[in-house]
Amino acid sequence: MIRPDSTDRRNDPFNSFTHTVCDVFGAEAYGVELTIDSADAERLLSVEPSDVSAAPELTFARNVFIPLTTACRYTCTYCTYYDPPGTASLLSPEEIREICERGADAGCTEALFTFGDDPDDRYTEIYDQLAELGHDSIHSYLREACEIALECGLLPHSNPGDQTREQMEPVADVNASMGVMLETTAEVQAHGGPRSKEPGQRIATLATAGELGVPFTTGILVGIGETAEDRAESLLAIAEFHERYGHIQEIIVQPVVSNARWQGGSPDLETMRQTTAMARAALPEDVSIQSPPNLAPVEELLDCGIDDLGGVSPVTDDHINPEYKWPALRELEAIAETADVPLSERLPVYERYLSSEWLSPTIEAAIDADDEAGRRYRALLE
Ligand code: SF4
Repeated sequence: MIRPDSTDRRNDPFNSFTHTVCDVFGAEAYGVELTIDSADAERLLSVEPSDVSAAPELTFARNVFIPLTTACRYTCTYCTYYDPPGTASLLSPEEIREICERGADAGCTEALFTFGDDPDDRYTEIYDQLAELGHDSIHSYLREACEIALECGLLPHSNPGDQTREQMEPVADVNASMGVMLETTAEVQAHGGPRSKEPGQRIATLATAGELGVPFTTGILVGIGETAEDRAESLLAIAEFHERYGHIQEIIVQPVVSNARWQGGSPDLETMRQTTAMARAALPEDVSIQSPPNLAPVEELLDCGIDDLGGVSPVTDDHINPEYKWPALRELEAIAETADVPLSERLPVYERYLSSEWLSPTIEAAIDADDEAGRRYRALLE
């Protein structure tokens, strides 16, 4: 761990460089000030796996994956999640409830709601369906979906793409935590095309979550055309927001993988090892580093600082990467055995955020409730 403490930078070797400041692409356009010190990036790039330590334990969460809508205004070239207009789906309240009930029955604690980004006006049928359900936006429908999950005994963790403050604030109190993959601060061709996804929007979403005090999961996507320098800058951008707000609970280091829309290959093992070690070095130790075992060679990354294996679902597929099945719990146990460390289940919100400073009264009440779900949540904290 190279950066010693997110709140005290007096002894921080990152501060000891002569600063050459570079602007991170696009953040200013969204009203967010962010500069990344190029000397810090250079320093981070020199981190090797041998500079960090393996984690003393591994964690995972038991979730159900709920793709609220597969509509998305973007067309990232590596993504098989989105469906074009005319074929995109919107889950009904009954379908959401049925998935949540199955998840609660299977012992899950997390309802993982995923979106594409705001469906644009090409998705007329999605807006017609939302209107029939009494909603004028997918974000107001998300609130109803989270309330269903809470009624069924699951804690919502929503991952709805970019969000403005006006979109995030109305759902923050019904989520135990939220997330969005920063992916990269660089402008890459994979995000391009007529409807290009801008890094500045993702950066603004990280900032908004911090301002609202939402425990937040983010991460980088490796191999989509970014450079090693871009990866270092992306990790330092996340570290900067965590230093400002303290809200980053976990960083995912995810390789892009081949699928029906992406034949650009995956990053090699050396790249994944170095990037994982950089993530570990850039963030304080209480921020978890996750690598998804269904997409990454996790056994080969354990010594680079991985301490979380993400969500495993006993009842639903990984809808974002449907060709890569979630590992069964037994496989996660085998990974922990390989590392010779204990494996424990966690809630979708990390334990250090379990206070009224971070959680709404609604989520605190769900965790404290004297019912079957509350007992299931609290059993993981013992
Ligand atoms: S990666 Fe996300 S933003 Fe890009 S097309 Fe897929 S769902 Fe949309």
